[in-house]
Amino acid sequence: MFKQKLRSIHAKQQGFIYTEKMSKESNIQCPFCFESISIAFFIEDGKNQETIVDCTVCCHPIECKVEFFDQENYHVEAARSN
Ligand SMILES: [Zn+2]
Repeated sequence: MFKQKLRSIHAKQQGFIYTEKMSKESNIQCPFCFESISIAFFIEDGKNQETIVDCTVCCHPIECKVEFFDQENYHVEAARSN
């Protein structure tokens, strides 16, 4: 008889420390190479943020606009930077 064992997953979140700054990690699509890259924001930096990140895949600069609605909900826009 086939017995399926359910493994308990330990959500230790190693190396992830909740400090006074709560980061939001988001996946955006690079407007140059269309790869998905991960970026992090801090709500403490403002409700509306604009930042330029270099794509980790093609190294093009991506203009990111972040709008926080509250602590949990936010909207990210990625555009080509000139
Ligand atoms: Zn890219």
